[in-house]
Amino acid sequence: MGYARYEVYRNGERIEAGYAVEDTCNRDGCEAKIDRGLGCLCGHTPGGDEFGCGHYFCEEHLFVSMRDDEPQMCEPCFDAAEKQAAKDAEETAVAQI
Ligand SMILES: [Zn+2]
Ligand SMILES: [Zn+2]
Repeated sequence: MGYARYEVYRNGERIEAGYAVEDTCNRDGCEAKIDRGLGCLCGHTPGGDEFGCGHYFCEEHLFVSMRDDEPQMCEPCFDAAEKQAAKDAEETAVAQI
């Protein structure tokens, strides 16, 4: 990783990504200038993965999970991950009884 500029597919659409590609925060109403590097990405993988949507956000609109294996995420993805984690914890608790 660490390419300045590359292309990825996100929801079937080809987009430019990389830290040399300028963007504004993908959150509605936020005008913060960012780049499409991994530092601004929601999720682990450009284009989206099981955690993130593959959109790009400013620092203020990225949330860091308490769980080690999870990446930084935007608010909706973070909420979904939290809900999933709570559900998993519940299922684990039930399984242990
Ligand atoms: Zn997201
Ligand atoms: Zn923002």
